[in-house]
Amino acid sequence: MTSHTVPVDPFDLVIFGGTGDLALRKLLPALFRRFCDGQIPAGARILGVARDERSDAAYRELVSDALARASVDTLKPRVSEFLELIGYRTLDASRAEGWDAFAAELAAVDATRVRVFYLSTSPSLFVDICERLRAAGLNDARSRVVIEKPIGRDLPSARAINDAVGHVFEEGQIFRIDHYLGKETVQNLLALRFANALFEPLWNSAHIDHVQITVAETVGLEKRASYYDGAGALRDMVQNHLLQLLCMVAMEPPATLQADAVRDEKLKVLRALKPVDASNANASTVRGQYRAGAANGQAVAGYLDELGRNDSRTETFVALKAEVGNWRWGGVPFYLRTGKRLAERVSEIVVSFRQVPHSIFNGAGGPIAPNKLVLRLQPDEGVKLWLMIKEPGPGGLRLKRVALDMSFAEEFGVHQPEAYERLLMDVVRGNATLFMRRDEVEAAWTWIDPILAAWAAGNEAPKAYTAGSWGPSAAVALIERDGRTWHEDAH
Ligand code: NAP
Repeated sequence: MTSHTVPVDPFDLVIFGGTGDLALRKLLPALFRRFCDGQIPAGARILGVARDERSDAAYRELVSDALARASVDTLKPRVSEFLELIGYRTLDASRAEGWDAFAAELAAVDATRVRVFYLSTSPSLFVDICERLRAAGLNDARSRVVIEKPIGRDLPSARAINDAVGHVFEEGQIFRIDHYLGKETVQNLLALRFANALFEPLWNSAHIDHVQITVAETVGLEKRASYYDGAGALRDMVQNHLLQLLCMVAMEPPATLQADAVRDEKLKVLRALKPVDASNANASTVRGQYRAGAANGQAVAGYLDELGRNDSRTETFVALKAEVGNWRWGGVPFYLRTGKRLAERVSEIVVSFRQVPHSIFNGAGGPIAPNKLVLRLQPDEGVKLWLMIKEPGPGGLRLKRVALDMSFAEEFGVHQPEAYERLLMDVVRGNATLFMRRDEVEAAWTWIDPILAAWAAGNEAPKAYTAGSWGPSAAVALIERDGRTWHEDAH
């Protein structure tokens, strides 16, 4: 039996916000898949909580519809078995009623089972919910709490949330989720780097020219307009997902896979990021906002029209050049970009190696493209290593760029687990390796805040880009100024 198939003891999982978008679209389908894989034992209880009055049966119907939308046909016969684990409780985080009865109900089963409280609500409720859990005596050692992004909108607000949650739970009980860390490719980055002798000797400024991290979406505002307009791409994506990916690429080898060993190394990377502030923000960052254009062949409105306002300066795109100031990475730029309504939905990390020091081909074989290691997080998770070879056949020696391609779905022919599947079970098992520690979140904000301050002081509107493009032309200039280009071919 491999470790991922070791069953867990029965546990209680309470999803605050159990009727919300994240719970129904991601969390419950992920739990269902783990159940179908035999990971969730029959005695487990999964309770959705929200303010609405609703019976267990009505909630199960809601969950059943959500599973029907999210699941493959072969799993559907098992829905009714899974629904037997599910219940619903009405509780309001802002009112004291009902919490004692809820605590008594949870206590009515064995006294040792793990309890997970997943706060899938607006972050404005995190503190209230934690305080209610404390008042009801539900913060004992077997309890764990999961908090979703965004953890604050700047360093002081992140600290306030961390303080308040930390007042109720020990750091070891707090699981700050960044679902990018649960993606197969990100875990594979650990395997590639540390289970192969091939890469680590090359993993430094002597051999790596630069790194690119792209998280591109084709969607626009969708339903979360007021949240997004108050946040923007830097807070919504860079502060958490892109910086976490950067850390996984740049960190020193941890001594073990223990949570704190990995998190200590990531923290050092965040603290080594060279500041981007008013002195260099213009040269190192680009902000954009989409105008009308096309997405997936359909005409789509611009951001301001979607928002229904014409005065927002929120960035829906950001590109930036980061540098990790340490011996391993000195002089190696990390180009990050993310945005909405871009040309393609793709998330990938591109590690671009240096050019060969000398060509023996004298140009005759064609240009020599530098090697690239491309780790694709979505849509099709996989890894490609781009190499130069001789084009087969007679007619002289012609060079050709080819990819050693490991597309996980093709290679393993099985369902690639969703990040939430892995992460939810990690919480139940108490494994925090793929979750963010308090000091990491705060170090990330410490780096982000001066960029936000520089943008605010500069008082410039974000640059326009057409929906369906790769962002404003200034983002192309940002990297081309350094004699490099964004990796946009051959996904
Ligand atoms: P949502 O659809 O607005 O759902 C919010 C949930 O909270 C609902 O079930 C709501 O039900 C419940 N709720 C609201 N007020 C409450 C109260 N006073 N007491 C108890 N329950 C209350 O939100 P969401 O999109 O699922 O997002 C949940 C969290 O995940 C947020 O922190 C969000 O930033 C984060 N997140 C979401 C996504 C996503 O894809 N949706 C992605 C990344 C992060 P009632 O109104 O009936 O109480």
